[in-house]
Amino acid sequence: MNSSLIGFPRVGKGRELKFASEKYFRKEISTEALEKVAKDLRKEHWNLQQSAGITHIPSNDFSYYDNLLDVTVLLNALPNGYKQLGLNERDTYFAAARGYQGEAGDVKALAMKKWFNTNYHYLVPELFDDTEIKLAGDKPFAEYEEAKEIDVLTKPVIIGGFTFLKLAKYKGSKTIDDFTDQVANAYIAILDRFNEQGVAWVQFDEPILVTDLSEEDVALFASLYEKVLAHKGNVKVLLQTYFGDIRDSYEEVIGLDFDGIGLDFLEGKQTVELLETYGFPADKTLFAGVLNGKNIWKSDYKKVIELVKGLGNYSNDIVISTSCSLLHVPYTLENETSLPEEVSQYFAFAKERLQEIKELTELIGTSGYEEQENYLVNQQVFSADRVYEDKQVQAAVASLAKSDFVRDVPRKERRAIQKERLRLGLLPTTTIGSFPQTKEVKQNRSKYRKGDISRAEYDENIKGFIKECIDLQEELGLDVLVHGESERNDMVEFFGENLAGYVFTEKAWVQSYGTRCVKPPIIFGDIRRENPITVFYSEYAQSLSDKPVKGMLTGPVTILNWSFPREDISLREMAFQIGLAIREEVLDLEEAGIKIIQIDEAALKEKLPIRREEWASEYLDWAIPAFRLCHSGVRPETQVHTHMCYSEFEEIVKDIDNMDADVISFEASRSKLTIIDALKANQFETEVGPGVYDIHSPRVPSAEEMVAVLKNALTKIDEENLWINPDCGLKTRGIKETKESLANLVAAAQIIKDAI
Ligand code: GLN
Ligand code: ZN
Repeated sequence: MNSSLIGFPRVGKGRELKFASEKYFRKEISTEALEKVAKDLRKEHWNLQQSAGITHIPSNDFSYYDNLLDVTVLLNALPNGYKQLGLNERDTYFAAARGYQGEAGDVKALAMKKWFNTNYHYLVPELFDDTEIKLAGDKPFAEYEEAKEIDVLTKPVIIGGFTFLKLAKYKGSKTIDDFTDQVANAYIAILDRFNEQGVAWVQFDEPILVTDLSEEDVALFASLYEKVLAHKGNVKVLLQTYFGDIRDSYEEVIGLDFDGIGLDFLEGKQTVELLETYGFPADKTLFAGVLNGKNIWKSDYKKVIELVKGLGNYSNDIVISTSCSLLHVPYTLENETSLPEEVSQYFAFAKERLQEIKELTELIGTSGYEEQENYLVNQQVFSADRVYEDKQVQAAVASLAKSDFVRDVPRKERRAIQKERLRLGLLPTTTIGSFPQTKEVKQNRSKYRKGDISRAEYDENIKGFIKECIDLQEELGLDVLVHGESERNDMVEFFGENLAGYVFTEKAWVQSYGTRCVKPPIIFGDIRRENPITVFYSEYAQSLSDKPVKGMLTGPVTILNWSFPREDISLREMAFQIGLAIREEVLDLEEAGIKIIQIDEAALKEKLPIRREEWASEYLDWAIPAFRLCHSGVRPETQVHTHMCYSEFEEIVKDIDNMDADVISFEASRSKLTIIDALKANQFETEVGPGVYDIHSPRVPSAEEMVAVLKNALTKIDEENLWINPDCGLKTRGIKETKESLANLVAAAQIIKDAI
């Protein structure tokens, strides 16, 4: 049985690419040094896959920042603003990814968006009327040659033209139809090059096919590929899909001249049904995504083998594959030295997934596989008892009543009470929570982790950071303060580490965007809060100031969405368990005198089902209640905030309002402000703080810029309802740019207040 990988993590076993890139950004290493690190990583990853016997090993899945940005460059579609800086190729690329401020000019980064239902982010292509799409790069061809030089014959992977066109923003009067021919021609040119190189298979990723598509969309997809595939020559073309099923286009897809079709059998609820209804063409290879590319649990060989055998009813030519790129799981379990065996035996990260593929390809071809050693060892894990239950927590969730999700006093009435108590005046300024994670802040945590300093010393240092942070905010003149989150490595991992039922890893990093990686904790058993988690820090911070200091928590949906979830109970069950734990924390903060409590739901939208018909019935029906469960027990005078990264919740504005928070802040500077129209149209009740500047970039925004954003916001939002804040936490920023940016923010607020 042949096997295929859709993509492999690229940052490296020890995040080598991240560290090298960051050094490069700080101008500490040369382009050549960065390229050397990248090349070594590619080599290592190819060799690894080759020794696991993977038949179709991907190349060009590597990226210095993002694969869609790579395609944008490859298609000559990088906006002129970046090209005109006159930087070299690498720096032009990074300017588009991160923004640029320096001698050559001042440009913002391209917008960044979440990649389907993952926590990976892509850079949004922008197409202008004068954009001329044509093949203009060398990356996929060069990487193929590079692999060939070490005797690895790869399958180049490129995001397909349809997904590119659908994800692009159209900045002029031209629309998608105006670019389709150019894109088709560019992909034909790409195939020509692969033909010259003698490439056997190429993979075009078209994940957009798993989203709701109109008939016009499907027609456009079909006409694009009819053109492209007419020129494929000797190269075999794999159409790769993932993150769901392709119910809107399956019939058209199987009629096109692809040589292979990659389908997701894990997230694709209707994939099997599609095969059942429409069959699978005998002249094509079925790339069956049967091994989880998104979660870290071992595959159950019995289930996988039965699934693959069942697929034999539809095709005689099956390649087993992961459900999506392994980009979304950590590199290897070998990095984990402190996970006990009774825990780690359940897991398979990227490298271990390769081993599973290897074993499965051998087992599937063997008669009597059920007696084989590898099979038996695997099945032992699934038959053994696992101690992880907490009966009390289960009972608490089971006995939740309607009243547990409702605050006694309605929001409109709470508002008057809170205004009276907090006395903030119009247009209060605040931040989202974290302050820059300086070297000292990070060292404090790592020293404590290594046992170099005691808990008491650690806490003393944290107090020092909190004091600095409060002093700085007082000096800047912000109205509602934060403690700065210097005790947190990550907003989810921190809570995971403090909740029973979680296990956490040392080096299980997953790329979130560019050089940013996150280390999602793993929900291993039932969740319970054993002790107060944040009260100590918040109480201390509040003791230093007369201004309100926000208590800062992460909400249950975000904790869940940024963790690796269990596969044996429902998401709803997990969300309510976490909701109960956060509720206890909220009540303790209130008890300790904290007047404003922010419960971040940064990732609320992330796992919104890709298919609209499932939004209400399979997600929002438990996600919104899980949030309400956290704060329904507080007194009316306690103000509850929430924060969401990315403002694109136009379509669920009513649900967001229904979270019943008093204030919400959200990202708004990198995406269009259409959200504000949606808020107005829906008579949004929650007070809002649309972020006035982008914290994902080191660029310092001027006060004038922020004044303009605020003026615009005030045309749609009542001044009584508006807050002023950056669009996310400041942890990834440097101190200097943070001070300057916040000083400008406060100045902008004053200018606006004076004008009112
Ligand atoms: N309070 C968190 C912080 O400021 C929120 C981060 C986020 O939304 N991603 O870091
Ligand atoms: Zn955010």
